[in-house]
Amino acid sequence: MNTCPVFIGGEWRTLTDVATTPVHNPSTGNVIAETPLCGPRHVEEAVEAAAAAFPAWRETPPVERARILFQFRALLEQNFEELIRLNTREHGKTLAESRGDVKRGIEMVEFACGIPSLLMGESMENLARGIDCDTIRQPLGVCAGITPFNFPAMVPLWMYPVALVCGNTFVLKPSEKVPLTAIRIVQLLAEAGLPKGVLNLVHGGRDCVDALLVHPRIKAISFVGSTPVARHVFEVGTRHGKRVQSNGGAKNFVFIMPDADVENSTRGVMEAAYGCAGERCMAGSTAVMIGDAAKHVLPSLVEAARAIQVGPTDREVQPQMGPVITRQHLERVEQLIETGAREGARVAVDGRSLRVAGEPNGFFLGATILDDVQAAMTVAREEVFGPVLNVMRLEDLEGALELANRSPYGNGASIFTRSGKAAREFKHRVKAGMVGVNIGVPASMAWFPFNGWEDSFFGDLHMQGREGVQFFTRQKVTMTRWFSYDEGDIWQK
Ligand code: NAD
Repeated sequence: MNTCPVFIGGEWRTLTDVATTPVHNPSTGNVIAETPLCGPRHVEEAVEAAAAAFPAWRETPPVERARILFQFRALLEQNFEELIRLNTREHGKTLAESRGDVKRGIEMVEFACGIPSLLMGESMENLARGIDCDTIRQPLGVCAGITPFNFPAMVPLWMYPVALVCGNTFVLKPSEKVPLTAIRIVQLLAEAGLPKGVLNLVHGGRDCVDALLVHPRIKAISFVGSTPVARHVFEVGTRHGKRVQSNGGAKNFVFIMPDADVENSTRGVMEAAYGCAGERCMAGSTAVMIGDAAKHVLPSLVEAARAIQVGPTDREVQPQMGPVITRQHLERVEQLIETGAREGARVAVDGRSLRVAGEPNGFFLGATILDDVQAAMTVAREEVFGPVLNVMRLEDLEGALELANRSPYGNGASIFTRSGKAAREFKHRVKAGMVGVNIGVPASMAWFPFNGWEDSFFGDLHMQGREGVQFFTRQKVTMTRWFSYDEGDIWQK
């Protein structure tokens, strides 16, 4: 079995003296690789390599740094088909979903290619008599990124392209469940001409992360993952003097107003709840039926959920939905459905009865709908992260907003309606950082911040867009006065 290599100081190396954890193909349950569990020793080496590469990289003009990313972008396009297949093989999402994952990642590289313009500062002449003032943005030094399993291509690319064009060097630790796509993408960046040590790659779980969080040479940490770990990363990282941007989990509401178009809202909810088998931080996992919306929309949702074909994604004939990430996660989601039923939810569509012909060991679960979910139920409070849609019924928009705004999370929220007034009220009052109007998954794209609030984000500056550039740089303000010694003091003239 192939053990994934680390990439330190420009060298690919297979570690032989560390424990490993298996990477599965979720469609078959087969082990396809082993991830080495790096510890403080490997983190030390990677950070040293990044620190050694920093002085020269910092002096490389931003446009030259960006030029390497233009080449990187071309290589990502050339290897697109290989990347989406690899992504699907280790993650289990459909090829169409992998296409989206890699495309969103390429858009981050496109954004990063334009970062030199965002590094420009401000200046003012005669801030005081004869004194000019200007600002410049400078890199921080060595930065680190820690990523989750659910977007193997996109999430790492939220981080290092921005950090690198800003002049930092970087250590990436991808999810131990999906290291293969991250490795292949780093290979392409090396091929694009990135100098040795500018980007380094280590693998592992908690020990590796904890070593990164306390390393004195690391100046900033980007993290994406579940809320408990996001909070831990933020608290430990900031306590050790680092800047931290830390994206956590979510539970996102999709409001269906009584006037919503049935076909469009059904399509929107299906995509939001079951896209990527529900394993998205922007999954619309709760449909809030307002007034008599359930009467029109629920039968159509039930019919659509029953019709979703689930199956293996690692072959040419594609299903509409793939497996979840691991057997352990499958069992957890099944348990949550069971708990929901026990606590009083009505299982309107039960995906647990699904059997996929020929693949008894794949991690499959059918689309599930739990109706009559109440706020106190476990399934309403916990992030399920699987193909399970909760349906809640509220009398009016006011009550629905009160319910949604009591959630500890604040990633995304959407409304389906024909009423501009209702949409405006929703946008104004809902407690979420990314809002959709007749859009089920309002995930912002590269040029805008990925804007979680509350327990979905810890920090000040989000990933993507200008905020990403601000996160990976610090400003310097310079006040300048020149004397003309040859000619005497010009002010006396
Ligand atoms: P996870 O929190 O289990 O793991 C994320 C990363 O943290 C991995 O690299 C993992 O190795 C590491 N890690 C795990 N446990 C750790 C611990 N105890 N201490 C230190 N490091 C640890 O998350 P996951 O299961 O890989 O991903 C799914 C979660 O990520 C969901 O909660 C989802 O909502 C969230 N997510 C959020 C966003 C966002 O932008 N808000 C985007 C994608 C995913």
